[in-house]
Amino acid sequence: MSKQKKMNVESFNLDHTKVKAPYIRLAGTTEGMNGDKIYKYDLRFSQPNKEHMDMPSIHSLEHMMAEFSRNHSDKIVDISPMGCQTGYYLSVINHEDYDDVLRIVEATLKDVLEATEVPACNEVQCGWAASHSLEGAKKLARYMLSKREEWKEVF
Ligand SMILES: [Zn+2]
Repeated sequence: MSKQKKMNVESFNLDHTKVKAPYIRLAGTTEGMNGDKIYKYDLRFSQPNKEHMDMPSIHSLEHMMAEFSRNHSDKIVDISPMGCQTGYYLSVINHEDYDDVLRIVEATLKDVLEATEVPACNEVQCGWAASHSLEGAKKLARYMLSKREEWKEVF
């Protein structure tokens, strides 16, 4: 890996064979011209190249985290799934506190366990409304919460 050229994308410079999922890692900081700062986190649920989340489950968990996280923080910019289906990117603005980001994720995942439906899983509000699984998303949330003590350990 060390012989590879440095890439523009931070995670392309991360050795995915060395990480130990699950974890939550600061993947980058971007500062705007007025001093606002975006902190981008790598929320890794699945061990890269060993396992991945199935599409209906990762999709429903995306809907729920996007909706519920905003009940716990007004700093959320975005939560989006990774194309490799092993995790999500979470971006927050002007909020440097890593431990508080863990708190937001924990509270959000606890909400997922309590949910009785997936928000916005219909053809008006979603681009693939047929591809959802409430139970699958809950299973992912339950797993992630069971590893809460390991979230800070990336390697
Ligand atoms: Zn959707």
